[in-house]
Amino acid sequence: MFAESVGGGRGGDAGLAEVKFYDILQAFSHYTYEATSGELLVCDLQGVFEPDHVDSTSGRPQPLFRLTDPVIHDVSSSKLRAAEDGWGRRKVSETAGGEVEGSKAAQQQRHGRTDRRQQGIADFFETHRCNAVCRALRLTKGSDVRHELQKSISSIGAAGDG
Ligand SMILES: [Zn+2]
Repeated sequence: MFAESVGGGRGGDAGLAEVKFYDILQAFSHYTYEATSGELLVCDLQGVFEPDHVDSTSGRPQPLFRLTDPVIHDVSSSKLRAAEDGWGRRKVSETAGGEVEGSKAAQQQRHGRTDRRQQGIADFFETHRCNAVCRALRLTKGSDVRHELQKSISSIGAAGDG
C-alpha cells in the first residue's frame, strides 16, 4: 500500500527507506492533528534513535525511537477552562468563539504554558510542508489544512459577520 503512494516504482524516487527522522516527526505532528479530528496537535518533538535498545520485558533487541519534549496545542483547552470556571460561559454565548480572545483566565492551558491552542496549530501548519511520510499516510494536504485554519481563525475575529 505504501508502494503505491510513495515513489511509484523501484527506480529513481526516494522512497520511505530514505526518509529522514525529521520528516517522520513532522508527519507525526500532522498525523496527531488528523487523528484527533483537529482537536489537538503534538509538535516540537525531539527524537533520539536507539538502535541498541533492548526490550526490558522480552530481553530482545528492539530498536527504539525515543521522543521527548512534546508541545501539545489543544483546541479544547480554552473550552474546558470556560466550562470549569463559569466565567466563560456567558462570554462564549455572547460571541461565537469568544472564548479564544477571552480573558486572561483562559490563558491557563491544559497542556502547560506552551499550549497555544488553535493558534499553535495554525502556526505549525504555516511552516509545515507535507513530505513523503505525510503522503504515505494519506493525510489531508497541509496547505488545505492551513486554508481551513485561516478561515476559522479569521471568522473568530469577525464574529457575527456571517
Ligand atoms: Zn503533512
